[in-house]
This record gives sequence, C-alpha cells and structure tokens, in this order.
Amino acid sequence: MITLALSKGRIFDETLPLLAAAGIEVLEDPEKSRKLILPTNQPGIRVVMVRATDVPTYVEYGGADLGVTGKDTLIEHGGQGLYQPLDLKIAACRMSVAVRADFDYASAVRQGSRLKVATKYTAIAREFFASKGVHVDLIKLYGSMELAPLTGLADAIVDLVSTGNTLKANQLVEVERIMDISSRLVINQAALKLKQAAIRPIIDAFSNAIERNTVPS
Ligand code: AMP
Repeated sequence: MITLALSKGRIFDETLPLLAAAGIEVLEDPEKSRKLILPTNQPGIRVVMVRATDVPTYVEYGGADLGVTGKDTLIEHGGQGLYQPLDLKIAACRMSVAVRADFDYASAVRQGSRLKVATKYTAIAREFFASKGVHVDLIKLYGSMELAPLTGLADAIVDLVSTGNTLKANQLVEVERIMDISSRLVINQAALKLKQAAIRPIIDAFSNAIERNTVPS
C-alpha cells in the first residue's frame, strides 16, 4: 500500500491534476467527507488528509510514504529524513514582510532599531533578518497575523502573500519579498528504497505533467 499525505484546500485541489496524470483518481471529496483516509481508483494507493504543517512529520516517520507540502512548511520543519525530488510549481505564492502603511520600515531598518515581528514562520523570519543584520524580537502566532501590527502587538509581520488582497483589506503594505514559495513532493527515504516500483512511476508522471505545464507550446 502506498500512502500519500495531502492537506485540504489549494494543495489538495492543485495536486489532483498531477495525480490524474499518474492515473490516480481520489474517490471522495475531503470538503464533503469527514473521512481522513480517502480511497483512490487504485487499490494500492490511498490518500490521508492531514494539517499542512503535519505533512512533513507524517512522511518523515513513515505514517505516509509521500506527501505534498509548501516550501515554507518544509523550511520550518527542517526537512530531515525527507527526499525532495520535485518542485511541483503548485500553490505558488511568496513569503513577505508587511507593515502598517504609516510605519517607516526603511528608517527603522536603517537606524538599527529592534523590530517586533509577528509570524508563524519563525525559522524563515529569524534567518532573513539575521542575514540583513536586523535585530528582531519574534512573536510566534498561529493565524490572523495581519492583526498584529494593527493592534500594536508587532511592528511587522512575515506571512504568505498571494494576491495581496488580505494585506490590502487590513491596510498593510508589503515592504520586502523574502522568497518565492511553491509546493514540493516529499518522500520517506526508506519507502523510496522499499517501494521503488510503485513510487517511481508517480514521480515520473508528476515530473512529466509539470514539464508539460511549464514549457510554452
Ligand atoms: P492573498 O490575500 O491572496 O494575498 O492571500 C493571503 C492569505 O492567504 C494569507 O493569510 C496567507 O497566509 C494565505 N496564503 C496565501 N497563499 C497561500 C499558500 N500558498 N498556502 C497557504 N496559505 C496561503
């Protein structure tokens, strides 16, 4: 049995066409079903639905053989024990720094002020500001980060930005782009060796589908 870990939302939706390219069809909709283990049209392949931040953990410890997870989640997890063969180029967005429109970020950074930064992505934020030589106090949050600068909890946030609509709706402005983010295929290293025959064709089908999507016709 091959077990694939996915999370609800964009990652699940955007992985479906890649699975279709590998001849795999998920037989239930996780938005409508309460089941956490979803069957596919292939009796030897099943999908488990886990929280996005838990995908690397499931794959690392073998609760799933493979999974799809954002680069952001992988960096925060550390990526140990995971084989990462493919950038799937899905769920694309960017990791950015945002502040209130009336906060002078450039001056604060230039003057060497100590910035209060709220984020769920503490590893990425710590590394980014350390590389710039900016002193920061990191405040770990689990959601609604946009609220932090509006309530005085923090000067800045580090968060994922896609369209920019969430920032705009909360009168925040993006002042620095830290990195581009997309989702990766991650594979348990032992599973890759022991279940080669089943896993290799999935990697190849995903890889061909990505190439077809990115090469202009
Ligand atoms: P947007 O308003 O389109 O810029 O989306 C920003 C909101 O969606 C923020 O709350 C982000 O944390 C979240 N978000 C955007 N892209 C992603 C993604 N690829 N994965 C997870 N969350 C995302």
